[in-house]
Amino acid sequence: MATRVPILILGGGIIGTSVAWALAARGVRGIEVVDLDLAGVYASSELNAGGVRATWWQPVNVECCRLTLDFFRAHAAEFGFRERGYLWLYADAALWERALEKRTLQNAFGLGVEALAPFELWARFPLLDRGREEILGATFSPRDGLVNPNAVRAFFRREAERQGVVFRNRHYVSGIATARVAGRAGSLRRVSEVDVVEVARGDPTDADGTVREILTSHHVAPAEQVSESRLAPDVVVNCLGAWSSVLLAKIGVRDVAEPVRRQISLVDVHASDLPAGVDPSTLGMIVDASGLYFHPEGPHVLAGYSIPHEAPGFDFGYDGETFFEAEIWPRLAHRASAFERCGHVRGWAGLYDVTPDRSGIAGAVAGFANLFEARSFTGRGVMQSYAIGRAMAGLVAGGRFEEVDLAPLARDRFDDPARWVTEDLHI
Ligand SMILES: Cc1cc2nc3c(=O)[nH]c(=O)nc-3n(C[C@H](O)[C@H](O)[C@H](O)COP(=O)(O)OP(=O)(O)OC[C@H]3O[C@@H](n4cnc5c(N)ncnc54)[C@H](O)[C@@H]3O)c2cc1C
Repeated sequence: MATRVPILILGGGIIGTSVAWALAARGVRGIEVVDLDLAGVYASSELNAGGVRATWWQPVNVECCRLTLDFFRAHAAEFGFRERGYLWLYADAALWERALEKRTLQNAFGLGVEALAPFELWARFPLLDRGREEILGATFSPRDGLVNPNAVRAFFRREAERQGVVFRNRHYVSGIATARVAGRAGSLRRVSEVDVVEVARGDPTDADGTVREILTSHHVAPAEQVSESRLAPDVVVNCLGAWSSVLLAKIGVRDVAEPVRRQISLVDVHASDLPAGVDPSTLGMIVDASGLYFHPEGPHVLAGYSIPHEAPGFDFGYDGETFFEAEIWPRLAHRASAFERCGHVRGWAGLYDVTPDRSGIAGAVAGFANLFEARSFTGRGVMQSYAIGRAMAGLVAGGRFEEVDLAPLARDRFDDPARWVTEDLHI
């Protein structure tokens, strides 16, 4: 016998937790969040770089991030929000031209983005004393910055729990059964250790399709025992991040997003190597439009680089010294002599869930009356988290997006390239 759950959120990363809190804050009750690991060992929300900016190229992304950054600003001490800006360096003429063009849009949103000529850049950022001849200019957005994503997620969860949301840890979503409203509920059939398929599903093009049951498996004491739960949700919200497509494949919904590995290194800089007067702890995010980014992180510097054409897959392997030596150190040293002797501390890898236009997917899943999704926010999930939660709560509980209109992020935009929400400067 399945247990009825009014609102079931799949995935307790920063997005699922934000949606849960936003729904609870509206007075919705009966919300449960299931996650295979709320500690987030494989969750992007625990493995990211903590950079937050509103300076995107598409209005929906600017709006979501602006609203979220305002929220971070209002809780700056608790979230470790540091408004230290994003500095983008441009060495490519076409990109620089586009950046100046998009600055007009960004400043129409009140973001106060500055365009810096090289001489202004060197005067304000003396750390950047290498490769100067290549740089055509830079943009600096003073209201962007850095945040502690774990603190944000902890806040969402604490507030959600205070309002009655139940978080179920170590619950692996292993099956989904769907049916047409008028038809027979699908039955669940185990086919492998971790995989259950549904056998009677609604036609994905049929708006009357309904998710009838979600099957989760979880370990109970003694540890070897696995218990299964059959949950009968009134509404399901898919917030499984990079794993969303695995769920959708079980119900025959075509997906366009792909998980792609991103690696980050922590590096040490010798204080004596810094130019006079440079205090790295006062810096925000510095981005080389070619793909390198770095910012101070406690006593270290956090640096990331997106390897072009990285093959998609669920790869959490950090290439360690090899990655640092081949990708991070030479690029850092190419921009600042202070990094010439920097040391590798450690690093990690996490997943971006990348869509063809590099914007997220949010809204109702066509073909199903009670299935929603908020996922695939590529490298932008933390900085959009608050706004996505609020907007989705409006849709789920009230039938329409609130605070931000997420209609441009509907999944069906991929049917028509003219509707893509393309972000070119995606690191
Ligand atoms: C290296 C790196 C750097 C990044 N840098 C930034 C940045 O600077 N700024 C920024 O805003 N964003 C950044 N991002 C992106 C950001 O981290 C993500 O967009 C965001 O965390 C996505 O949150 P989510 O809740 O959608 O997904 P996740 O945090 O991945 O949560 C999904 C959850 O689903 C659970 N789950 C998966 N499958 C199942 C299942 N079958 N059953 C039960 N539970 C399941 C997982 O355990 C996980 O907790 C970065 C990402 C990476 C990897």
